[in-house]
Amino acid sequence: MKLLLATRNAAKLVELRRIVADAGLGGVDVLGLADVPEFPEAPETGATFAENALAKARDAAAATGLVSVADDSGITVDALNGMPGVLSARWSGRHGDDDANLQLVLDQLSDTPDDRRGAAFVCAAALVAPGGDPSETIVHGTWRGTLLRAPRGENGFGYDPIFRPEGDERSSAELSPAEKDALSHRGQALRALVPHVLALVG
Ligand code: IMP
Repeated sequence: MKLLLATRNAAKLVELRRIVADAGLGGVDVLGLADVPEFPEAPETGATFAENALAKARDAAAATGLVSVADDSGITVDALNGMPGVLSARWSGRHGDDDANLQLVLDQLSDTPDDRRGAAFVCAAALVAPGGDPSETIVHGTWRGTLLRAPRGENGFGYDPIFRPEGDERSSAELSPAEKDALSHRGQALRALVPHVLALVG
């Protein structure tokens, strides 16, 4: 069976591929969007991570006929009433500008004391199998931590340099890839999808 990981975010694709490979999906040929003909993708307009993940996976499955996985993720900051949330990738007004997005959150929280700097990374992952009897599964992962006052570390992407996971002194950009996968919102969600993928393999 072929499984399409439907994301245009290169850093996310690396993580998704790694997590799926570690899950040991024998008999599953894992593809990225670069491996399939291009198709139009609807803009991300959903109010929730789950809506966006499902829309992306549905688009991919309908266009390619392949079993497709998509994720939508972001950071929810307690002191910002859960924002940036689904707007995480474009919080500064420029889609995908990780440095500007992270800096804006740091500036917004410059007067917020340490005991009110809680945040969580959240991921919704959707699995859509096309065909006569289409099946859809949505799972979530949440990774709690606190926001640092300055970026630290070189690994990961997005808000990783300012996120200190609960129970660790390092930022998530200072964790090794394997350490991040074991704890992260994306790791949790993808591992929850694995049994559903295996059920489709039969
Ligand atoms: P999406 O591609 O619409 O799901 O955007 C997700 C955005 O949330 C990314 O651009 C990052 O800014 C942020 N994000 C999601 N997951 C992570 C992560 O694991 N580390 C750091 N930032 C993340």
